[in-house]
Amino acid sequence: MKRGNPPQRRTPLRAKKPLERKTELKASGNLERTTPLRARSKKQEVKYRIRRPLVAELLEQRLVCERCDSARSTDVHEPRMRSRGADITDPKQCVCLCRDCHNWIHANPAAATADGWLIASWDREAS
Ligand SMILES: [Zn+2]
Repeated sequence: MKRGNPPQRRTPLRAKKPLERKTELKASGNLERTTPLRARSKKQEVKYRIRRPLVAELLEQRLVCERCDSARSTDVHEPRMRSRGADITDPKQCVCLCRDCHNWIHANPAAATADGWLIASWDREAS
């Protein structure tokens, strides 16, 4: 495709004057944090207090990876991912997998969804 000349500017570009503050800053005190940020919110911390023993229990009950049926399960996977609203404290939404299978699922989301290892966020029927 052959392009013509660029359109001609009608008004020349001018250098902008630097921005000026029109109102004074209200906070004049020390804005630095006095306490460090929490690694997890209090709400998330409550969930993980339930989650940790649940993971230990599930991995003890289901020793073999549910996808490849050969390796030892080390990970608990949620087919309806946490980011898609999974309840991480519900054992019915958990699947025990080996590290390789878990990596494969998250590396190949389309194939994993087709095989049922992931559930689309809009798919309300499956659980
Ligand atoms: Zn596996």
